[in-house]
Amino acid sequence: MTTRRQFIQLVPVASLGLGLAAQAQAALVDPASPQAAALGYAADAAKVDGAKYKQYKAGQACSSCALYQGKASDASAPCALFPGKQVAGKGWCTAYAKKA
Ligand code: SF4
Repeated sequence: MTTRRQFIQLVPVASLGLGLAAQAQAALVDPASPQAAALGYAADAAKVDGAKYKQYKAGQACSSCALYQGKASDASAPCALFPGKQVAGKGWCTAYAKKA
């Protein structure tokens, strides 16, 4: 049986779990969306048009960008530029800034 005190102690843990689940379910950024297009976002950096985006250098990807809010090994994670969405770890955009 769960006492009232135990229940109150469990609530923050349950809320944290829901928060993590919501983050995990965030949709991937659609490269065709206006904001993504404006930033030249590609879900696969290997497909970036190097002639159009001269700042792109082979090897750059969201997973090594300072704005990527996940581990380098994560397939996708939130990015500060796309609130509520996830970007692909192997993606890229013109705001790329190498993680220090
Ligand atoms: S700012 Fe960085 S992490 Fe965000 S989409 Fe652009 S390259 Fe990827």
